Amino acid sequence: MKLIYEKSVKGRVGYSLAKDNFGEIRLEECIPSYALSKEKKALPEVSEVDVVRHFTALAKMNYGIDTGFYPLGSCTMKYNPKINERLASLDRFVYAHPLSDERNVQGSLEIMYDLEQLLKEITGMDRLTLSPAAGAHGELTGTLIMRKYFEDLGRPRHKMIIPDSAHGTNPASSAMAGFNIVEVKSNENGTVDIEDLRRLMDEDTAGMMLTNPNTAGIFEENVVEIARIIHEKGGLLYYDGANLNALLGIVRPGDAGFDIVHLNLHKTFSTPHGAGGPGVGAVGVKKHLEEFLPGPLVGKCSNNLLKKSVDHKGLEPTPEKRDSQKNESAEKEHDSQNSKYAFEYPTKSIGRVRAFYGNFSVLVKAYAWILSIGREQAREVAEMSIINANYVMARLKKYYRPAYDRFCMHECVLTGRDYKGYGIKTLDIAKRLMDYGFHPPTIYFPHFEPYAQETIMIEPTESESKETLDEFIEAMIKIAEEAKKNPGLLKDAPHATAVRRCNEAKAALEPILKYTK
Ligand SMILES: *Cc1c(COP(=O)(O)O)cnc(C)c1O
Repeated sequence: MKLIYEKSVKGRVGYSLAKDNFGEIRLEECIPSYALSKEKKALPEVSEVDVVRHFTALAKMNYGIDTGFYPLGSCTMKYNPKINERLASLDRFVYAHPLSDERNVQGSLEIMYDLEQLLKEITGMDRLTLSPAAGAHGELTGTLIMRKYFEDLGRPRHKMIIPDSAHGTNPASSAMAGFNIVEVKSNENGTVDIEDLRRLMDEDTAGMMLTNPNTAGIFEENVVEIARIIHEKGGLLYYDGANLNALLGIVRPGDAGFDIVHLNLHKTFSTPHGAGGPGVGAVGVKKHLEEFLPGPLVGKCSNNLLKKSVDHKGLEPTPEKRDSQKNESAEKEHDSQNSKYAFEYPTKSIGRVRAFYGNFSVLVKAYAWILSIGREQAREVAEMSIINANYVMARLKKYYRPAYDRFCMHECVLTGRDYKGYGIKTLDIAKRLMDYGFHPPTIYFPHFEPYAQETIMIEPTESESKETLDEFIEAMIKIAEEAKKNPGLLKDAPHATAVRRCNEAKAALEPILKYTK
């Protein structure tokens, strides 16, 4: 496919303007000189139809959940109902200005309030913030809450325990929050080595980050014991809820002993999240951590648990302003008769983590999805996702040895290690899958010796039919045969895509940000 610059023909235009009635205006008279470009920009000269065809062709080269099966492990690429997009695009939401007075956006606040109540019920936590923009951002929020909790006790702690199987964001966000990372080993079952944990946990350790099911797709069956070990030394247990899809309606992290959880609303609660967003990493805490949450939270007007304020700019009020607001209590009294919901700012808050109120459109979609699924079907979501993953594993394990040969939860971890002898890497297997029309699964994650190497992590989600899974499985089996009989076919795959195998590091190492002829 040609670049749009290569389609450029001198003098061709894609616009027409009305005959001007104002005479010529010199740019120098309208734009300050510092903002004026010195050189003429090299813009493509193309017609309207050229532009439309160019970008439509590019869009058709894209692969998404609406195009086909997207088994990317650890990402929960489930179907996103289109009705939720319609709801999130309603004028009342789209045109609500983030600086609006909260009295004028009561409906939006009600959605945030109700969504929090639903998430409280799903997780078993006492209070949630909807501000963080992603799972990783939720982790940073949660670890900052942990840090502040210990500082507030007057006994700061400096270490965070993280399993060797953890998602890379766990150590990254803990380090950003100022913690030193202590790695706890996995055992031959793919779960946390309890003895190793017992040895590592001490009174300078803030706690532990854990995902369950873990990144090997295995349920941490010792979670209650893990919670006891952490709590005995006064620590806090953090739940990375990216894998909640497997537990929805079955187990609540709050009941399993977790003090803090983050949920990836864009994963479990169905929002398109390819290419980096938008997302929401809602963070829930137990009662003892509520006052550290970032603001604003949404409360009912009668709820005086936390200091409440009305601030037209959506910023935290200064202490002076808080006092003056107390004096306006008569006016507030009047307000609260008309307004049911108001923003709240916890007293010992870690502070704001994001501008305004988070990615509101994601909240609307998650809210609509939860209400449409309902209580009984929520459990079915988890059960179907677990059955689908186990079906894929059972049919493929003869060809791709599992990292752990046991039942998995909502995703399975296979390996391509047996094909190394044929000169085939797991990367080659993933690339070849594109020739069969599938998005490759996650590869080389999780990766830790000696159990998990050359990994292929498949998360089918509950959205997929048996027929789709069978087509995928057949393609994987064919590739396994090709690897033995015709490895060359895999080594320079993909063959059928517009772009063949690219140097995946080159664009980052040598970015070309400017077009030059
Ligand atoms: C996806 C994921 C994260 C990070 O979430 P983002 O929303 O991508 O920032 C963290 N942990 C696990 C286990 C994940 O799968």
